[in-house]
Amino acid sequence: MSVFNYQKDVDGIVVITMDMTGPVNAMNDEYRDAMAGVVERLESEENLTGVVFASAKKTFFAGGDLNSLLEAQPGQEQAFFQTTESVKSQLRRLEKLPVPVVAAINGAALGGGYEICLACNHRIAYNHNSVQLGLPEVSLGLLPGGGGIVRLVNLLGLEVALPYLLEGKKVNAEAALKAGLIHQLVDDLQDLLPQAKHHILRNKNNQLAAIQPWDIKGFKIPGGNANHPKVAQLISVAPAGVTSKTRGLLPAPEAILDCAVEATRVDPDTALRIESRAMTRLVMTPEAKNMITSFFFQMNQVNGGSSRPKDIPPSQVRKLGILGAGMMGQGIAYCAAMAGIEVVLKDISLDAAEKGKAYSDKLLSKRVRRGRLDDARKNKILELITPSANDEDLRGCDLIIEAVFEVMNLKHKITKQTEPFLADKGIWGTNTSSLPITQLAEVSQRPENFIGIHFFSPVDKMPLIELICGKETSDETLARAFDFARQIGKTPIVVNDSLQFYTSRVFSTSVDEGIRMLEEGLHPTRIDNLGKATGFPVGPITMSDEISHQLTYKMLCDWKEIGVFGKWGEQDQLFDVMATMVDKFDRKGRHHGGGFYDYNEDGSKSLSQEVLETWYKPEVDIPEQDIKDRLLFRPVIESLKCLESSVLRSVADGNIGSLLGIGAPTWTGGYLQFVNTYGLQRFIDRCSELQARYGERFRAPLIVSATLAEGREFN
Ligand code: NAD
Repeated sequence: MSVFNYQKDVDGIVVITMDMTGPVNAMNDEYRDAMAGVVERLESEENLTGVVFASAKKTFFAGGDLNSLLEAQPGQEQAFFQTTESVKSQLRRLEKLPVPVVAAINGAALGGGYEICLACNHRIAYNHNSVQLGLPEVSLGLLPGGGGIVRLVNLLGLEVALPYLLEGKKVNAEAALKAGLIHQLVDDLQDLLPQAKHHILRNKNNQLAAIQPWDIKGFKIPGGNANHPKVAQLISVAPAGVTSKTRGLLPAPEAILDCAVEATRVDPDTALRIESRAMTRLVMTPEAKNMITSFFFQMNQVNGGSSRPKDIPPSQVRKLGILGAGMMGQGIAYCAAMAGIEVVLKDISLDAAEKGKAYSDKLLSKRVRRGRLDDARKNKILELITPSANDEDLRGCDLIIEAVFEVMNLKHKITKQTEPFLADKGIWGTNTSSLPITQLAEVSQRPENFIGIHFFSPVDKMPLIELICGKETSDETLARAFDFARQIGKTPIVVNDSLQFYTSRVFSTSVDEGIRMLEEGLHPTRIDNLGKATGFPVGPITMSDEISHQLTYKMLCDWKEIGVFGKWGEQDQLFDVMATMVDKFDRKGRHHGGGFYDYNEDGSKSLSQEVLETWYKPEVDIPEQDIKDRLLFRPVIESLKCLESSVLRSVADGNIGSLLGIGAPTWTGGYLQFVNTYGLQRFIDRCSELQARYGERFRAPLIVSATLAEGREFN
């Protein structure tokens, strides 16, 4: 029996119910065979009045088969192109049937799933949260290669279609109806099929209902084709808009824009072929391989709990205590309350705790103003947060997270003082960004219940949590902290205890490298610009201003005091520059009134003359590629060292942590995945060059040659 169930009813309507092997319907070999059979049969079906595509799964259709896309390698372009074209010709034949074809969308239809819907004449969706529609391929370095670009541009016009294609915007059923992505909604799932059939019967004598708009003689693309002055103007400025976002580092948005523009210039069949060619080129790129690997497979792996100890029952936090209502504590309180958790937010005074709660009020009010929340719900969420200055209020917490100042003694003191208020099996989380967890846990009565729960700032926006296991942290504690992270909708990576853990340690390396180049005499703006050209959110000099030199300087001084200065490599240059900035120039960073740059009220920034006079040497030059590689290879090498020394427990955690937490360039797929597509041997060779020119810190960690010798990659 085919995985596409074929049923013809008395009215001559054929319902195709897609029920492929596995949990979802996907565009793989099985799909192509099933679709080929169905299309052929439909074309020769007698007394056919219409066709309905439905799904037997919870989702309508999941999209492309990413495993096979990962496997496609340069040299196989011809075969890949042919396969893409065959998928397309099936959909083209489907939309050319002489009867209406209706998509009955019961669940998510994203990517290839929505492309099937687009090849239907009429799209009806179940009006429910589980239904999402869109073409998110761009987020995996791909393009909608099943006709999605061509059909969406023809359906909506270039200007309206572009955000869906370039940003991968997904919408729910209601928004999809408003935007014209679908034609009809049903509120009750039971009505979906009857309504689909009803549409067919109602249009029995309406020939136009069986023809796609773009196949009707005299069809005009909404908004006009490429010759229309407004569209021509859009075409002339759109590439600059795309490049300003991608900085030329992501081939997918460029290819998508190109295909979308072509769709306004040529007939649909030609445009579809152009789309297939672009897809073939794109799928072979390292960027696509990197993004599919990490943003899809490894993200699922991490969120799915691959680093969570097995055999420990799922848990939920009902009451959360937060110590410290500062920048981090207030953000954690907001996220927890949003997830329906009762929160006690404690600071040294009630006033300070209330200020912390006011932060949630501010964020929620913003949501209300934007129409994303009503007042009643806002108040309900706020009611969950109890500001307090009294330890007694913490009694019975399943979890206490401390987010007080980064001072070991203080953290020790509050641990001893408040730990007794935890519920029986309650666990303790510290949000320290650098202090060793094992040492923090020394004063704990139950060090096995003690774990690092490292949030990122701003907490409400940053999706990552780094869970850090101390020497004695139990599996049960890890599992419970993991469940809490998922409960509040964050992505948790799990690492072992070590100075600065994974994220902070790796993050600091590219800033360090930028400061070294400044000290060597390079122009700070050149360093920053090349950092951005590599794909970092901001350049390292600006980043150092943002972190605050005061903070970095204080940390380095602390490290000297406790004897860990230079533990991860020489830090003298960084120390000297920070000391000069803080002690000599009183330029402590952006939030202290200025750092390497002065930050002007109009949002612009200008370089400090003192900085230029002190360090800039016009005669010093370094090849551009070396500057870029120095900034990128440092965090990559540090990530490899973390993997080698088991600070990282898995490659997926390393990649996802670097992407979501510390600004690894998207195109790399994370700092470890980068090495895979760069090539392990090539990486070793380039490290040797950088090492010879710039120092020991560029020596390739042994794990690279060992992995190469085993014929493996980092996965
Ligand atoms: P913050 O200075 O904004 O807030 C600290 C709060 O702790 C203050 O409101 C202070 O009054 C309160 N506090 C001090 N002693 C207390 C006590 N005994 N009981 C209750 N509250 C007390 O600091 P922050 O930026 O929110 O950082 C807090 C922790 O989070 C630090 O360990 C920091 O290293 C870590 N962290 C910070 C960031 C960041 O980007 N700021 C990121 C990750 C982790």
